[in-house]
Amino acid sequence: MLSADFGHLADSCRMVNQSIAWSIHLDVMDGVFVPNISYGFPVIQAIARYARKPMDAHLMTVEPSRYYERYRELGVEWLTVHYETCPHLNRDLQEIRRLGMKAGIALNPATPVSVLEQAVYSADLVLVMSVNPGFGGQAFIEESLEKINRLDRIRKEKGLDFLIQVDGGINDSNARILYENGADILVAGNYVFKSPDPLAAITAIS
Ligand code: ZN
Repeated sequence: MLSADFGHLADSCRMVNQSIAWSIHLDVMDGVFVPNISYGFPVIQAIARYARKPMDAHLMTVEPSRYYERYRELGVEWLTVHYETCPHLNRDLQEIRRLGMKAGIALNPATPVSVLEQAVYSADLVLVMSVNPGFGGQAFIEESLEKINRLDRIRKEKGLDFLIQVDGGINDSNARILYENGADILVAGNYVFKSPDPLAAITAIS
């Protein structure tokens, strides 16, 4: 929803509800972990009133654990925190699950997949950032493909079933190769909301 028209959020929600999208993805930025501030609880509350898809929140915020309960109360079903913001990541994942949400881990472009060797056992989802977090509309970082492939291999080797989500610079020219390398969910902002036909854009990358 980062790329949606904030003056017409209800319309944007209705469009996503009608589409074949997996979720409504919420990019929360605090201006500390990332150099931008996006939106917070009042806006998520407004989106929740219209959302008929699961809300999937991606927290680009420091000390995210201060607010896990708040996200749960707002109806968020999938909560993803950054590896780089959680020195006690296992505790964070456990807490998110204890509250009844699915727990995701996000990795910045420079963070290797190897740091998740243990954490993947406690994750429902791993999000590979394919741009540097902070802004919409950036170009896809090609090395992300290798990370997706590596995560898919770890998932098979360990017999796990976490989902692999990719966020940043997604469009109809890279979607197929991402799925072929193991991605399950692609997050798209600008590609969808700047399209003259957002519903068709979602179908084109699904
Ligand atoms: Zn995101």
